[in-house]
Amino acid sequence: MKKHNFAAGPSIIPDSVKEVTAKGILDLNNIGLSVMEISHRSKDFLAIIQGAENLMRELLAVPDSHKILFVHGGASMNFCMIPYNLLQTKAAYLDTGAWSSKAIKEAKIFGEVNVVASSKEATYNYIPKGYTIPADADYFHITTNNTIYGTEIKTDIDSPVPLIADASSDIMSRPMDISKYGMVYGGAQKNVGPAGVAFVIIDESLLGKVDRPIPSMLDYRIHIKDESLYNTPSCLAVYGILNMLKWLKGMGGVEGIHKINVEKAGMLYDEIDRNKLFKSTVPDVNDRSIMNVTFIMNDDYKDKEAEFLEYAVSQGMVGIKGHRSVGGFRASIYNALPVDSVKALITAMKDFEAKL
Ligand SMILES: *Cc1c(COP(=O)(O)O)cnc(C)c1O
Repeated sequence: MKKHNFAAGPSIIPDSVKEVTAKGILDLNNIGLSVMEISHRSKDFLAIIQGAENLMRELLAVPDSHKILFVHGGASMNFCMIPYNLLQTKAAYLDTGAWSSKAIKEAKIFGEVNVVASSKEATYNYIPKGYTIPADADYFHITTNNTIYGTEIKTDIDSPVPLIADASSDIMSRPMDISKYGMVYGGAQKNVGPAGVAFVIIDESLLGKVDRPIPSMLDYRIHIKDESLYNTPSCLAVYGILNMLKWLKGMGGVEGIHKINVEKAGMLYDEIDRNKLFKSTVPDVNDRSIMNVTFIMNDDYKDKEAEFLEYAVSQGMVGIKGHRSVGGFRASIYNALPVDSVKALITAMKDFEAKL
């Protein structure tokens, strides 16, 4: 049966991207060698990593002031690299979920952390508003999309200090004005490609201002100088990223995919709001993520949760069980998830309702 892959991450990769990548695993560009067995300094691999960087720059209209890096360690390694490289005295953070909290925990190792607002008391079911960003902070850190809680900051906010965004789960899902950010980063495994790489888009002028020595592997300046080749990168994953970005360009780029994403999310939220069995976990529609749609059973139907999950799985749905901290369901509808998969989930929701 056809699988509809709603996994939160690692997550769906388009069939055409899997095919091209598989071919490169067997024989890259007809050179008689696999992408897994060539030097990361060979001309074939340099074309891959530079191609991926150039496409990311083109698709996100990254200004020349910002460098693009592909590094190891995921978004989580950047949680410590950011304060290591940028926190001299004080940093400001917005706490919108589990990933924000993890970033805050690392920053506290390096200096004073001002958490300007948090929605923790409401299981992170909204994005705090009306907070003040301290003008003397070294930077202000946000998580644009809260993968677990289904909330999203969908506009490029104004910040009096350099704005740093963990955009792991909504990068390239919508146009972003990168010039408003000091840094945008994330793990590749949601919208950008296979796991094993973190992308970092950083304004170089922010670096070199802290007093502490920085280990080479954690120093953004070293990775900039060596163009992401200070040590061996995740070669295969970078190849996957190149193929994924080519696919995205073919879909009309970030603007083209954004239209489809808005349509997909709109259809699914409409059904959640209409169907008597379900309700969204995010009351304010403006805060609802277009990438991770979280929903639970309505109070009268709480006992049907396991039964619906079983039914949805029998209809080919994969990965829709909610995170343990929220319960219910989460449909991750990343760029690569086809509209037809959203339609299949909606059909399963309608059919299950009709059966009761
Ligand atoms: C998945 C995710 C992470 C963790 O990424 P790793 O690459 O596993 O470190 C961090 N932040 C957000 C918002 C995520 O969705």
